[in-house]
Amino acid sequence: MKKVYVGILICLVIVIVSAGCGKKYMQEADDTDWEQGTVQNITDAQSCYVNNKVADDGYGYYFTDGTKGKYYRIYYYDAGCEQAVPLCSKVNCSHKGEDCNAYYTADQCYNGYIWYQNGHLFRLEYDTKTGDMKLIYFDKDGSNEKSAGVLWNGENVVMNKVSDYEKNMILHKGYIYYCYETDMQEETTVYRLKIDGSGEKEQIGIVEKPEIEVKNQTIAVRNNQNRVYITVDYSVKDTAQHYMELYEYRLENGEFSRKMTEQAELDYAYQYDESGEHIIGVTGEGYGAVDLRNIAFDDDGNMYVYQSITGKVLKCNIDTGENVQIYQDDGYGIIECAGDCLYLNQKDTGSFDKQYKITVIDLSGNYIKQIDCQTAANSYPSGKNDIFMKKRVSSEQRVNSEGKNIMVEYLLYDMTTGESKVILEGTA
Ligand SMILES: [Zn+2]
Repeated sequence: MKKVYVGILICLVIVIVSAGCGKKYMQEADDTDWEQGTVQNITDAQSCYVNNKVADDGYGYYFTDGTKGKYYRIYYYDAGCEQAVPLCSKVNCSHKGEDCNAYYTADQCYNGYIWYQNGHLFRLEYDTKTGDMKLIYFDKDGSNEKSAGVLWNGENVVMNKVSDYEKNMILHKGYIYYCYETDMQEETTVYRLKIDGSGEKEQIGIVEKPEIEVKNQTIAVRNNQNRVYITVDYSVKDTAQHYMELYEYRLENGEFSRKMTEQAELDYAYQYDESGEHIIGVTGEGYGAVDLRNIAFDDDGNMYVYQSITGKVLKCNIDTGENVQIYQDDGYGIIECAGDCLYLNQKDTGSFDKQYKITVIDLSGNYIKQIDCQTAANSYPSGKNDIFMKKRVSSEQRVNSEGKNIMVEYLLYDMTTGESKVILEGTA
């Protein structure tokens, strides 16, 4: 009899372990056709994670922590267990050294990017010998990695175009959509590659170069359910002018077209304190045009713009080009659209003697709530009840169990209670 009970007990333990904590807060869709995407909510949510460093599998969040140029460590936060753990299934691993499976060199997990789709995780891997930038997919426990293909070869590519601020790729409905710069004076090609490794990269459109002479260029790729958007921002040489364009790719028919062109001078002036040394604010009229740099999209053909300097929020119909002001904030920053809400994150203007905060409004511009962030925060609203955030730790110095300085906190902000819970203290 005793043996039977032990047997049952072992079975129970195995079931509990293999199911994680078992709390599934969103339906997962591992079995759907990759091109159809995952369950709508998950795809929606993932598209708003603007910097590609947080992924959601319906049970919790995957994210990367690490020092650029050295390593990244991939963590998994299980919403059922309410615990963030390194993505490593090695027995007796202390998860503290480079032999831990959760550790990746900066080349193996390029830029700390991580995505989730249909039961797999994805990262970029840069081959230092060949210069190839590959998309790698692997199982949710970190094992069984395979290459989906080469996005580009390092030769002639301006590598700094893959940076935190220039989001030149997204993973959406079975493809990675991306572009990269070879020569600023040439046109830019937009590509896509199947993420299951079943195809070669294909060209989906060309971003043409304007006739005017430009100096800096920033390209960003964004999406909603059925569209991929590419924006490009050029500084016009020898002037304070900016030249900005919006391109649209339609998933249903492969149509690629330019939707908007905006040219304007950024009107701003710094305000200084009494000593004249410290900048305490910025004034001015901002752009006289639609500022295509801070934008977000809903699924109904609208684009939302958070205008620099003035903090005006515009709602634009992409097909007609018409726009209307729906809100005005007392600062400016990043705009994100998730679910039925817009999130206005003032993560930079906080340094100008203003509050670091996120204002939540609905798609018509009605105020919903304000989240006080205290320090600059990267926010990844999922459209669900919580916002995943990465926040800089304020000045007092703290160390973790490995003796490393704690630089950031990863936390979940609960939209209902207004409370936030730290899930990891990060070192970079
Ligand atoms: Zn480990």
